[in-house]
Amino acid sequence: MTDFTATRAAFQIPEGLVYLDGNSLGPLPKAAPDRLQRMMTDEWGQSLIGGWNDHGWMAMPRALGDRIGRLIGAEAGHTVLGDTLSIKVFQALAAAIRMRPDRRVILSDTGNFPSDLYMAEGLVGLLGDGYALKTVAPEEVEGAIDEHVAAILITEVDYRTGRRHDMARLTRAAHDAGALAIWDLAHSAGALPVRVADEGADFAVGCTYKFLNSGPGGPAFIYVAPRHAEVAEPALAGWLGHQKPFAFDLHYAPGAGIERMRVGTPPVLQMAALEAALDIWDTVDMDALRARALDLGDRFIAGVEAACPDLVLATPRAHVRRGSQVSFRHREAYAVMQALIARGVVGDFRAPDILRFGITPLYIGEAEIDAAVDTLAAILRDGAWDRPEYRTRKAVT
Ligand SMILES: *Cc1c(COP(=O)(O)O)cnc(C)c1O
Repeated sequence: MTDFTATRAAFQIPEGLVYLDGNSLGPLPKAAPDRLQRMMTDEWGQSLIGGWNDHGWMAMPRALGDRIGRLIGAEAGHTVLGDTLSIKVFQALAAAIRMRPDRRVILSDTGNFPSDLYMAEGLVGLLGDGYALKTVAPEEVEGAIDEHVAAILITEVDYRTGRRHDMARLTRAAHDAGALAIWDLAHSAGALPVRVADEGADFAVGCTYKFLNSGPGGPAFIYVAPRHAEVAEPALAGWLGHQKPFAFDLHYAPGAGIERMRVGTPPVLQMAALEAALDIWDTVDMDALRARALDLGDRFIAGVEAACPDLVLATPRAHVRRGSQVSFRHREAYAVMQALIARGVVGDFRAPDILRFGITPLYIGEAEIDAAVDTLAAILRDGAWDRPEYRTRKAVT
């Protein structure tokens, strides 16, 4: 079981704020500032370069990778942290493509996050030689997997609508056709139980600053299935992925297993914040979290549908088909969200017309859900969103 009262007490959330944007940037773990302070003054301040050895900084990407590995159902020793998610997508794709040299197609879907598609476009541009990214509607992925596909690159949960793909089924379909399956878990890790090992994922990647609460700019993670660990060739051949980084050889030789997916110097301060977050995650049972998130999501959907006739549900109702966010459409979604934020209920807007709300049971309960419904209903009822200042788009939406 998981003590959600205890997890809530472990986060710093401003008094009175209803925070439904933990799917975009998780809140601050209360232990993080102290952890960072200690790392800076006691470790960096006192040990300087010695910190890499004396305080285990160099081992952190693997050690923390395994703690994330538990949340995504990975075998120990096959997940590592570093870089940003976009970079990890590129790495996984490049490695997968090299494992299927007779095939030229990367298959993805139009529900994917643009950066994943951009990274794939960049890679096929670099490779030339007939390589192509094929993008189909989410419901058409399975039917589009054929003998030309080297790898499918699929984000399990749609960042806008919260629609969830069937990971086991698509992975099986990819394997049946001789292709590899790369899963982006940006909106899955820390959101719902994931079973990369049981479901046969070949590669998985994700970020830590969303549901996992590592803070802005926290490092991403990559998982490579054990059967590929010594086969996958990293295209981004950095010195810390080398077999012997401190031999300073002139030629690259990949490190053992997941070590080769490291690139350069790890972000030690950012990992200290992640460590504080993972101390909380270590106490969480993902099945309990999922059950509670679905209850809260259902409560939100029922409340909004009863009180806000202008909003149209964009998230699938069926539990198995949704992640841990609930989204609604409104033609003036941006202005409605700005008005909502001005009243202390924070969700976000995704173009063109989506109001998005993250359901994060670690620090959200019935009271926040009900407050969000009431505030949203009030804004729509009295038209409070219809003001020029709420229509002015900010740089980050
Ligand atoms: C959030 C997100 C990203 C962001 O990538 P960064 O490199 O961390 O900025 C990429 N892909 C998906 C699916 C995401 O949800």
